[in-house]
Order: sequence, then structure tokens, then C-alpha cells
Amino acid sequence: MRFHPPIQSSPVARIHLLPDTLVSQIAAGEVVERPASVVKELVENSLDAGAREVEVQLEAGGKARIAVSDDGAGMGRDDALLAFDRHATSKIGSFADLERVATLGFRGEALCSIAAVSRVELTTAEQPGDGHRVFIEGGRVRVAEPLSRPRGTTIDVRSLFFNVPARRKFLKTPQTELRRCLEVVQGYALARPDVRFLVIHDGRVLLDVLAAGGEDGPRERIGQIFGRELADGLADIPAGPGDGLGERISGFLGGPETASGRRQFVFVNRRLLRDRLVMATYYRAVREEWKSEDFPTLFLFLDVPPEEVDVNVHPQKSEVRFRDPGLLDRIHEALRRGLDRARGEEPAPLRTPAVEPTVPFAWQGLGDKQRVSGDPPWSREPAPAVSFTGVPDRLATPSYPPLDRPMVPLSGRRGEVRPFRLLGQYKGTLILLEGPDGLYLIDQHVAHERILYERLRRAMATERTPVQSLLTPPLLELGPAERLRLLELAPSLDDCGFGLASLSGNTLALTAVPAVLTAAEAERLLRALAADTTDEGQEGALAGALRRRVLDALAASLACKSAVKMHHPLSPLEMEALVSELFAADQPYACPHGRPIVLQMTDADLERRFGRR
Ligand code: ADP
Ligand code: MG
Repeated sequence: MRFHPPIQSSPVARIHLLPDTLVSQIAAGEVVERPASVVKELVENSLDAGAREVEVQLEAGGKARIAVSDDGAGMGRDDALLAFDRHATSKIGSFADLERVATLGFRGEALCSIAAVSRVELTTAEQPGDGHRVFIEGGRVRVAEPLSRPRGTTIDVRSLFFNVPARRKFLKTPQTELRRCLEVVQGYALARPDVRFLVIHDGRVLLDVLAAGGEDGPRERIGQIFGRELADGLADIPAGPGDGLGERISGFLGGPETASGRRQFVFVNRRLLRDRLVMATYYRAVREEWKSEDFPTLFLFLDVPPEEVDVNVHPQKSEVRFRDPGLLDRIHEALRRGLDRARGEEPAPLRTPAVEPTVPFAWQGLGDKQRVSGDPPWSREPAPAVSFTGVPDRLATPSYPPLDRPMVPLSGRRGEVRPFRLLGQYKGTLILLEGPDGLYLIDQHVAHERILYERLRRAMATERTPVQSLLTPPLLELGPAERLRLLELAPSLDDCGFGLASLSGNTLALTAVPAVLTAAEAERLLRALAADTTDEGQEGALAGALRRRVLDALAASLACKSAVKMHHPLSPLEMEALVSELFAADQPYACPHGRPIVLQMTDADLERRFGRR
């Protein structure tokens, strides 16, 4: 145990009130974390002021400058000064108002917090020409003077955290901060298709979406951001059972082919949120309706009476609470029907295939049999004729006839060869094997993940990953933030053998892939990485030891994202190929995230359970 000297009493220990500016700086920490939080507050204010056009100018990812201009209501002279006071707001006046907040802001903290940690210039006019200019530095008003400008407001924030070096240090590269800013604007652009948004970074236009009004507005806006192709392919989410009673559930769902994109956006009263309960409802609906883990593109707009949601549960308002628990059921119902539509005429992922299932593209390249010792006898066998009982399965579970497969000598890593017999597949999810000492259950998804992971790790361990150039590069049509995300990861991706070329707009061409992956596998995981807004892997810019960790994390996440999914019927040959490669792996028993891959029921276990022992 360490010895701690008793705390000395000193004059410093006496209680005193903190100066106002320090209080503001501390409080600012809650609201203003990074440039993107400033963008969020300013854009919200513009929308609250009824803007039809919002322009966001950024410099150095927002670290040097964030200027948001609007053509909204503007402020008079007194308001322009008052706006920067703590708890100065025009939006609520009583506790009762708090119960039904219809504006995006209401706490009156944003401008005050931003002004406490930056240099802010506000220009505003309620009438064209008749405007005011206020300059505030570190929370103190330096200048206030009349000025002529068009109706609306511009808030120009420079040198964020100039007086809080500790905060400044925590900011990421301009590229990363910029991507986050863009994600924020993109969220509001999706929520408000009737408003024009423009984002300019260091003089370059990154986003420019014209107002798209009317019934088709939301779909049109999605097209403006993610490309027409995605937008045109989306199915409408039908009205929920509670619609018309002041509540509206609407939005769009993509088909199963959009599942790799991870584009899932939920808006509650035109505020982009990642609400856990709503997301869980969505996952459940997909699992129930599609019997699948392929979660498609989702744009869900929930518009409910303001008194039905509590937005005051999180300082940045990224979480809400619903007063009516039945709302989740109604969302579930609407999603369920939307998922039916989105799948259209496509066959259910689980429907019994009429012929032997074709090899899903995630499997090409899995038949790399050299690593399995010798040339296994089955690799030369013709595909067995699979016959079906012809009874349609109500659960739409793939049913294979009992297999009569020969024993396959599956070689382990240490060279030992053990006879296994493939018994079949359980619910498109588990592979069942008869082993010399018991029954083996293999989770096909994690098994494939482990195999891909080891292949990638092996490839990355060598100085330079073997790269395969693509003669006809697949094109990735991305949203602006998604494009930035991939460019941000470019150094790590480059190390791993991915080649990306920037084309016009937000389209990237995939010019090369690590030789261990097929082009389709590579494309799938790039799409998933692009839409992933968490920040893992961005240390890729750093050298040395970190790089190894990044590569490892990347390998794990790449493997996870491109592995074959659950509920996927596999042919006997595919299963045997998978199992062979798995047993040749360095670590066949646990996936890169530590979940088990193989469960064994020994003969002794089975005998005990059947009361034979
Ligand atoms: P809140 O949005 O929670 O009310 P803020 O600190 O963000 O608090 O803003 C304080 C007040 O300043 C707002 O209530 C509003 O009256 C005014 N204001 C801020 N930005 C704008 C703007 N872009 N246009 C018009 N008024 C604004
Ligand atoms: Mg506000």
C-alpha cells in the first residue's frame, strides 16, 4: 500500500465562486466538444429561425473557422447582444413550454458556450439593410455596431478552443473533423429537404443541395446526397397504424442488396438520432420479416406531437424518450410492411432453393484449397445431386435431405488428420459435423469471419500486401461524408492493398484490392466502412506500432463485414471447404471478437443426456 500524506489545509482549499468566464468554459465542454458540435448548434438555430437556405463555410475541418449563414428571421440589436448570455433563449418561457418543445434548440446554452471557447462574430438583420454586428472573444463583447446586410444571420466562429488548449489537443485531423461536420449537415439536409444546404470547405463545395419541396422532397433529397440509383430503388414505408392522430411514420427502406451499406438514419421530429430502442425495433423487424441479418438502408422519419417526446434527456439532444411505449409497436408494424415491399419480388433469403444454391459471392476465393494439406478427395468430386422432398417449408428454412457424405479427412494445423463427416446445415446458420469423438456445431458466419481474418492478417504481415489490380474498377457511389470517410482511411487502406481513385462528385473507383479478397468482398466492406461513423481505425495515419494495431483492427472489422451471413444456405461442398479451411486456421475456435466458433458435444455428453450413463 502506498502512503498518502494527510491533506494540508491551505487558503486554496476555501470555497469560492468561480468567475463567470470559467463557468462558461466548463459548461461549454458539455455542448461544444468539437467543430461538428458547433456546426450542429448553428445549423439548428438557422432552421429554428425559419431559414430556407443554410450555408456552412469551414476552414481546416472547422478548427480554424466555422461560419453559418442563413436567410432566417434575424435578430434585433438587443437580441443580438442577449443571445450570447447563458440561458438566453427566445424559444421557451416556462416549464410548460419545455413539455412541448417544437424547436430544435431551447436551452439557450449554445451561443454562450461557443462564445466562451472561440472568437465569434455575429451579423444579423431582421430587415434587409438594417443590421448589427457583434464581436465576442472568449465570452466578452468587444464590438457592437450597426451594419448593412440582407435579412438573416451569420455566425462566424474562429479559432475554436483558442483559450482551452487541452480541448484543442483532443481534436482529430482536419479531415476527420470535417467528415464529422459534414455528417451533421447531411443529417439536417435529409431531415429538411425543403431547405437548401451548402457546405464549402477551404473554398471547395462539398455539398450543395437545392430545396426539394413537396411529397417527393424526401426521396429527391436522398438522391441528391447518395445518388439517384439508391433513391430510385427505395421502397416507401407505409403509414403506421397511428397515423393521422398527430403522429406520422414515414420513410424508405432498401432491398437486401443495400445491406452492406450500413446507411441507417432515424429522425425524430426532424432531428437525426441514433435511438437505441428504435434501432432495436428495426433490427427485430428485419430478423422477423426477412429471417436475415442483412439490415438494409433505412431512412425513418417519426413525426410525433412534441409533448410525446422528451428531448431534454441529453445535453446534445442525441437521445430522446418516448412517452407512449405503444409507439415502438406502431413503428415495428410500419417497418414490417415496409420490409415486405422493399423485398418486392425478390426471393426470401431463406426460401428453399429449387436447385443447389449458387455460390454466394462472398464465397468465391474460399475454395483456396492449397492450404488444406494435400488435395482433398472431394475437391475433384462433381457436385452431388441434391433432391428435395418438395414439401414447401412454412418457416422458409432451407432443408437439405439427410446427407450421406463420405468421411473427409480434415487436417488440423498441426498436421493431424481427423475423419469428420458432414451431417448438414441447421437453419442456414450452423454446420453440423460428426467427429471421431462427438458432434460438432460450427457457426458458419464466425467461421468464415475467422478464415477471412487470418487470410488478411497473413497478407498484411508481409511487408507489402499482394495486390490485385482491377481492370474494370467497380464504382462506389457514395454520400459526401462517406467519401471523406474512405479518404480518411486511405493510408491504412492503401497499406492493406486497396486502391481508390477519386472520380467526379462523390464517386470513388476501386482500382485495386488485396489479393486475398475478391472484388465483390472488397467492395462490400468498403461500403460498410464508409458508412461506419465510429472512429476506429483512424489512427491509420500514425506510424509504427500503431499501424500494426490498426491493421489488426482493420482485418478483424473487414473480416466481420465481408463474412458470409447467417441464414444462408450452403452446399455440402461449400460447407466442407469452409470447415477444411477453418481447421487449418491458427485459431479455429474463436472469432476475432472472441466469440466461439465451434461447439462440441462429446459422445460422453450425449450418452449422459440420454441416460445411458
Ligand atoms: P437556443 O437555441 O437553445 O434558444 P442558442 O444559444 O442556440 O439557444 O441561441 C440563443 C438565441 O439566439 C435563440 O433563442 C434565438 O433567439 C437567437 N438566435 C440564435 N441563432 C439565431 C439565428 N441564426 N437566427 C435568428 N436568431 C438566432
Ligand atoms: Mg440553439
